[in-house]
Amino acid sequence: MSAWEENDEIKFFREYLRIPSVGPNIDYEPCVAFIIKQVESLGLPYQILRPGGVDQPIVVVTWLGTNPELPSIMLNSHMDVVAAFPENWSHPPFAADIDSEGRIFARGAQDMKSIGMQYLAAIRALKNAGVAALKRTIHVTFVPDEESGGKLGMDKFVQTNDFKKLNIGFTLDEGRASPDEAFIVNYSERSMWRLHLKISGPTGHGSLLHSNTAGEKLNYLLEKLMNLRQQQVDRLKNDKNLTTGEVLTINLTKVNGGVQTNIVPASIVAVFDIRIPHDMDHEELDKKIKTWCTEAGGDVEVFYELKEPRIEPTKLDESNIFWTAFKSAFDELGLKMKLLITPGGTDSRYLRQLGIPALGFGPMNLTPTLLHANDEFLKAETYLKGIDIYKTIIPKLANA
Ligand code: ZN
Repeated sequence: MSAWEENDEIKFFREYLRIPSVGPNIDYEPCVAFIIKQVESLGLPYQILRPGGVDQPIVVVTWLGTNPELPSIMLNSHMDVVAAFPENWSHPPFAADIDSEGRIFARGAQDMKSIGMQYLAAIRALKNAGVAALKRTIHVTFVPDEESGGKLGMDKFVQTNDFKKLNIGFTLDEGRASPDEAFIVNYSERSMWRLHLKISGPTGHGSLLHSNTAGEKLNYLLEKLMNLRQQQVDRLKNDKNLTTGEVLTINLTKVNGGVQTNIVPASIVAVFDIRIPHDMDHEELDKKIKTWCTEAGGDVEVFYELKEPRIEPTKLDESNIFWTAFKSAFDELGLKMKLLITPGGTDSRYLRQLGIPALGFGPMNLTPTLLHANDEFLKAETYLKGIDIYKTIIPKLANA
């Protein structure tokens, strides 16, 4: 048995990891019951909201501040995890095995059951150290559905009166592990567009040369979009300081059409996943795509399954007192920070869209980035250090 197994915080963490909150049709109730048990031991009030449906619970745990009229601090985590295929793992993904190095293997060990439990653990440590309350109220939230895009979770939640009543002034949410010493902090993310192009043209026998066919138009559009993609590939290659989160990404993700090999199809649908950085002109890109559709020969329908607006990055200057507070915790602890724009999407975007500053952070340095990967693990030592880090960050934010 490893030395870590007797530690209460490690026990709680592993218990949470053993709940398989994995799709499809995730049953969140065991997570909710587990969190409530934790919260009751902390003596904190909580509410369970279900804005996305009865099977999409959100747990809101509240640590009331001494100045509850001030904007509050939200510490958010999601309860769901992505699928794990046991045959590709060296440990069962929902056993939370711990090895002799103290590595805890489980789906959600990094993304992001660790962070949810660390928030509660830090509050426990603060209370045990005699801190009865901080200046601002803290809300620790546990949400569903993040891994499917948050439509039934955070997206619904932020539109409710229950959310408005929380009067959130600042949010901490997930961040990814960093293989080196510097901790990654995300302050912005790109806007997601899911573009469908329905390309139509004359149908006919596959042995002839009809003009203006769907295939030719697809070829034209693909060339334009792939050229734009290549420009971004080159930018990344030529500027080592640039990260994926700062460039435009375009990927062809689906192509549908055609009925038979010897019939020219009347239409082809091509679907693209596009992510746009905040400093790019969204309208101009939309115009460009529409112009290319006309140039391709017309008869191309543009449909956006999703078209997120430009999302203002969280300010990293003195105008944002929560940024100053967060940074001062890092300075006090002597921790290194790497500021990045996250290449993927997180629930933070729903908050930033409302103008609420949000930072993505997970206290996981010197740790391989294993979110959504096989053999996802977090070292017990890293987990416990993370609790200490939150123990400094949370009071700085709440007393700002
Ligand atoms: Zn996550």
